[in-house]
Amino acid sequence: MKILIVGGGGREHALAWKCAQSPRVQEVFVAPGNAGTALEPKIRNVDIAADDIDALLEFTAREGVALTIVGPEGPLVAGIVDRFTAAARACFGPSRAAARLEGSKAFTKDFLERHRIPTASYKTFTAATFDAAYVRAQRLPVVVKADGLAAGKGVVICETHESAIEAAAGMLGGSFGDAGRTIVIEEFLRGEEVSFIVIANGETVLPLATSQDHKRRDDGDQGPNTGGMGAYSPAPVVTPALHARIMREVIEPTLSGLRADGNPYLGFLYAGLMIAADGTPNVLEFNCRFGDPETQPILMRLQSDLVDLCEAALGGSLGRIEARWDPRAALGVVMAAGGYPDGYRKGDPISGLDAAARLPGKVFHGGTRVDGPDGTQIVTAGGRVLCAVGLGDTVAAAQAQAYDLVRAIHWNLVQYRRDIGYRAIARERR
Ligand code: AMP
Repeated sequence: MKILIVGGGGREHALAWKCAQSPRVQEVFVAPGNAGTALEPKIRNVDIAADDIDALLEFTAREGVALTIVGPEGPLVAGIVDRFTAAARACFGPSRAAARLEGSKAFTKDFLERHRIPTASYKTFTAATFDAAYVRAQRLPVVVKADGLAAGKGVVICETHESAIEAAAGMLGGSFGDAGRTIVIEEFLRGEEVSFIVIANGETVLPLATSQDHKRRDDGDQGPNTGGMGAYSPAPVVTPALHARIMREVIEPTLSGLRADGNPYLGFLYAGLMIAADGTPNVLEFNCRFGDPETQPILMRLQSDLVDLCEAALGGSLGRIEARWDPRAALGVVMAAGGYPDGYRKGDPISGLDAAARLPGKVFHGGTRVDGPDGTQIVTAGGRVLCAVGLGDTVAAAQAQAYDLVRAIHWNLVQYRRDIGYRAIARERR
C-alpha cells in the first residue's frame, strides 16, 4: 500500500520513517517533506504544501494512496479530514469540528469547564468586552492567550498587570491577526508539565508511551518559549497512579464530552498537562495531532506497526489492539538555527550528518532542504533543524547517545540545550 504523510517537519520525518518500516507499505510520500525524508529508503517527497487540500486530495486519487496521516494542525483545523472523508479517502486525524480543541482556546476552556475537566480558571474577552480592571484583580503572574492558532507564540506569561494589559491590547489590536481577536486571560499554574498522547476513535483510546518535552530555549528551562527543544520517553513523572488519573480525569471525559457534543474524535490527541503538587492533572492545552518533538522519541520506541494502529482506529477495532514498546528510554535533542525562536538564519550548510549516520541512534530532520549545484549539500531551512534521538537502558544512557550524535553535527551558530532530560535523570539517581 501507499501512504501519504502531510507536513514537512521532524514529526513528519519520524512518522514517514516509521510507516516505511511496515512490511505492508510499498511507498511513503511526504508533502512537502524535507531533506531527511528525501534521503530515506521507500520515502519520496512531493512538492505540495501541507495546506493545499485540493492538490493533496488529487494526488492521493492519482497515486492510489490508501492512507493519509496528517502531521500539522493547520490542515486539520481547516477541515482536511472532512474533505478526504467526503471523497471516500482514508485520512487519519480529527474532523474540523473536533480539531477546534486546538483551533480555539476559548472553545476549549468552555468545553473543559462544562465537562468539569481540571484546568486553570479563566475569562474570555474580545476588544468590545475587554476589562482592564479584571486583569488588575488577578494574582501574578497572569497568562494571556490568543484564541486561535498562533504557531506556538500566542501565550504570554506576564509578571506585571501592566504588561498583561499591554499583551492583551496587542492581541486584540491584531498583532496575531484573527487568532487574537478573542483572548483568554488565565490563572498561572505551577507544577511539572507532561505531554499525554493517545490514539482515539470516539471513546476508544490507545494511550501511547508517556513523554515529556522542554519548551524553553535555554538550559534549566529558562529563556523564551519555543516549539520544543527536546523530549524523552518514558516520562518517569507519570507513575501508574498518575497515568490512571489522567485517563480518568482528562482523556475519558474529553472523548465522551466531544462525542456527547456531536464531535466524536478520531486521531492523535495530545493533552498538555500541568501536574499540580497534589497530583491534579490540569489541562494547559490540547493539540489535535502528534507533538513535535515528542513524536521522534516515542516512535523510536514503538515496536508495533504504526499503519496497523492507524487503520485499527479508522476501522473501529482500536479496542482490540495493543501497542508494543521498546522498554528502553529514548531521548531527542533539538538542534535549532541561530536566532530561534525569533528571526532565525536559513541556508547554513550542515556538516557531519554522514558521521552521525554511522553512530547508534537516529537523526530526524525538521527544517532542512537539499541545496547546491549537485543537490548533495543539506542546509538549514527552518527554526528547529534536526532532532537527534538516542536510546538507552536509562534516560541518562539515552541522553549520552543523543549528545554523541549532536556533537558529530555542526553548522554556523547552531544552538541546542545541554540538559535535555535533566528532571528524569535526577529521578533516576534518587
Ligand atoms: P499552551 O500553548 O497553552 O500550552 O501554552 C504554551 C506553554 O505556556 C505551556 O506549555 C506552558 O509552559 C505555558 N503555559 C500555558 N498556560 C499556562 C498556565 N496557565 N500556567 C502556567 N504556564 C502556562
